[in-house]
Amino acid sequence: MTRQFTYSGSPAHIVFGNGASAEVGAWVERLGCKRALVLSTPHQAADGEALADRLGRFAAGTFSGAAMHTPVDVTEAAMRKATEVNADCVVALGGGSTTGLGKAIAYRTDLPQIVIPTTYAGSEVTPILGQTENGVKTTVRDAKILPEVVIYDPGLTTGLPVAMSVTSGLNAMAHAAEALYAQDRNPVSTLMATEGLRALKAALPILTGEPRNLEARGDALYGAWLCGTVLGAVGMALHHKICHTLGGSFDMPHAETHAVMLPHTIGFNAAAVPELLEPVAVLFGDGAGSGLHDFASSVGAPLTLRELGLKQGDLDRAAGIATQNPYWNPRPFDRAAIRALLQDAWEGRRPQD
Ligand code: NAD
Repeated sequence: MTRQFTYSGSPAHIVFGNGASAEVGAWVERLGCKRALVLSTPHQAADGEALADRLGRFAAGTFSGAAMHTPVDVTEAAMRKATEVNADCVVALGGGSTTGLGKAIAYRTDLPQIVIPTTYAGSEVTPILGQTENGVKTTVRDAKILPEVVIYDPGLTTGLPVAMSVTSGLNAMAHAAEALYAQDRNPVSTLMATEGLRALKAALPILTGEPRNLEARGDALYGAWLCGTVLGAVGMALHHKICHTLGGSFDMPHAETHAVMLPHTIGFNAAAVPELLEPVAVLFGDGAGSGLHDFASSVGAPLTLRELGLKQGDLDRAAGIATQNPYWNPRPFDRAAIRALLQDAWEGRRPQD
């Protein structure tokens, strides 16, 4: 078959290197800005303050209220702060939650964003924003949401706890695995996805023993960039739909849920498109799903939905919600198939494919 594809490159600036975050002031200036509002979670407030100190005259203030799932009331509080300090850009330091807050502000104001990621979630390179209001999570995609500059500085990630490093890394790998069979995949997305999986597969086992290993931190962050980029570039399928359902309707923790579901959803789809998932099978084992299960187990990831707190009695409802709106997946499925898949993930059974 002759090649046929569409490829659109992301317009963001990506800066990568140990110590690269020291350049954040220069990037504020290069964006034509003078007054950055530095964002963080409460947990990383001290890091946010330290970054503001380093920004010196380019720092207008800090806001350290970022929270999971980007609640709209937090965004509104941050926007009041941005107005009060006359901010002309935002600098988000942290994981997907802080990045989400910066995106939510940019979506409403078009203020330029600089993101300094400290997890492997990958949100910093997507034009996608998920936000919550009155308990309902909605997702929007808009060019204004994509951060203008991303600074990856491995030195800032050495304190990411091992358990979070593992689950966040598997969260990133889920973007890449689904990108391999995306309907709108292209040769570049497949290259990036495969390289992202390779880099994280190499880094995570090292980080479990040596969390301060800078080279492995750099590899993991490099993998996260590649995996996040394909998340922003091509469509996701069953895996992301199920994780979205479990996060949105059952308040399950984001990265941990991705980590538990990954071997099951990929194993399920491997039965239909083994040739597209071959990079996963080659990297992790004979079967893409069983290989991912063994890898996740070897790095100490959670393996069951049960240990994440989901009740067995919730599985019927979860299967119902996940199959409510038909959407594309490489393997057709019905409610019974997803119910069985969720049971396997609840128990942590090793997938066959
Ligand atoms: P997170 O940002 O919620 O971080 C979890 C906790 O870890 C926070 O308290 C944070 O401050 C802390 N933390 C982060 N980095 C740390 C570090 N280096 N050292 C110590 N503590 C650190 O978790 P996450 O998994 O990165 O992000 C999850 C959120 O991101 C979810 O809301 C999810 O929906 C969203 N997300 C969005 C996209 C997208 O493209 N829109 C992609 C992936 C994730």
